[in-house]
Amino acid sequence: MDKKKEILDSVLDARENRALLRYQFVENNLCTLSLSLNIPGYPKSNPFITSFFNEVLNELKPFLIANRIVVQNNKKIVLTHKAGDFFIVPFSNSSIDIIKIKALTETFEETHLLGRIIDIDIFNEQGLPISSGKKKPCYFCGEYSAISCMRNKRHTYDELRKKINSEISNYLEFKNKELTINKLTSFATKAILYEISLSPKPGLVSFHDSGSHADMNFFTFLNSSASLTPFLKEFCLLGYNYSGKYEEVLGQIRHIGLRAEKAMFEATHTINTHKGIIFLFGVSLFSISKLVSEKEGYNDAEFRAMVMKICKNMVANELVNTTNKAITNGEKVYVKYGIMGAGVRGEVEQGFPSVFHKSQAYFEENLTSFSYTNQHEIQHILQTGLLQIMAVNNDSNILHRSNLETLIHIQTLAKKAIDSKIAFTQLNEYCLAKNISPGGSADLLSVALLLHFVKNEKL
Ligand SMILES: [Zn+2]
Repeated sequence: MDKKKEILDSVLDARENRALLRYQFVENNLCTLSLSLNIPGYPKSNPFITSFFNEVLNELKPFLIANRIVVQNNKKIVLTHKAGDFFIVPFSNSSIDIIKIKALTETFEETHLLGRIIDIDIFNEQGLPISSGKKKPCYFCGEYSAISCMRNKRHTYDELRKKINSEISNYLEFKNKELTINKLTSFATKAILYEISLSPKPGLVSFHDSGSHADMNFFTFLNSSASLTPFLKEFCLLGYNYSGKYEEVLGQIRHIGLRAEKAMFEATHTINTHKGIIFLFGVSLFSISKLVSEKEGYNDAEFRAMVMKICKNMVANELVNTTNKAITNGEKVYVKYGIMGAGVRGEVEQGFPSVFHKSQAYFEENLTSFSYTNQHEIQHILQTGLLQIMAVNNDSNILHRSNLETLIHIQTLAKKAIDSKIAFTQLNEYCLAKNISPGGSADLLSVALLLHFVKNEKL
């Protein structure tokens, strides 16, 4: 009996407290808007319910601004309490039609996935509630009004709480997933844009010039980058939702990749700008997204292990020509140079050794938010990152268009160019003279940047 009385007292105290808060505003001739959740039973709040309450509050605030409902935010009060979380904010009646505000807040409730448990109350400056006369449907059955089911005790507290808990949990998970996927997609787009914006680059297209490429320019890459964004999101979604074996996902990644290639070729009028990136980001975004969807989150070692699992035996399976079909460029380079000529497949099969060789530690130390304010500094940092990758990457683009001697010469020049402007000029000139472009290294720079953003910016 004592326990019951305690609960009843707590709920009544909370109600009284809310009325008092409202009264304070009425005394100053102010109307109020308040938010609470309609949770049956007791306690009406816990950390889990509060996180949902805060989420709704975060959604309500821009809704009010968008509808030009001006509230006095400096006077808002937020209470977290076992008897129910509560938010109240006053507003002046002089400039807005209070009936219209009520109608708008009802729209907010009606269009929200869990609107049936959200209560937004509007009181006028006399402290009287504004009602549209509409009756909220019951949260549980939706058949009768909420008040009717409550008065007739149609549902038990247990079944109501169970349903509410599971729906809040699904909702928070859904919101978290949406936020994570959107951020990850924007990191991927940013990494691609950073790579193309690094200027000048040896043999590669940049804002400065088109390097060794006569058929494309900076804007071809912008068109291509913009066309990829929806597919980058699809890679992330696939990873977030995936529950099968990693060894079996490659077909699904490539299926998205092929559609991305089609969009890219349309955007560039049949020029290959980002085929390598589509494959590398497909595997990378899948893996990152899968890791962040799990409790432990992202870390380099797990990421590399996952990429290696997904791409296991890729070199043997895809570069050894065992049929009578025409031999591809990739196969030709592999026949000639062995594992050194395995290109991007060799790189992923080994978990991105060129990316993790030096660029990650270097970006960690130098590519901080501070450096973002200085364009020359950021160009220098990106250039160093690219050179570090070029110094070790056995770029099959170079091997295909040239030979091993040229590749080794470029690797040596790239290493020197990290600390020498003269060597950097020599490297640029050499690439132009030989008409070659280290496209594979540029793709890996984008991967390196993506991983850096994932680790250093809030996901
Ligand atoms: Zn009902």
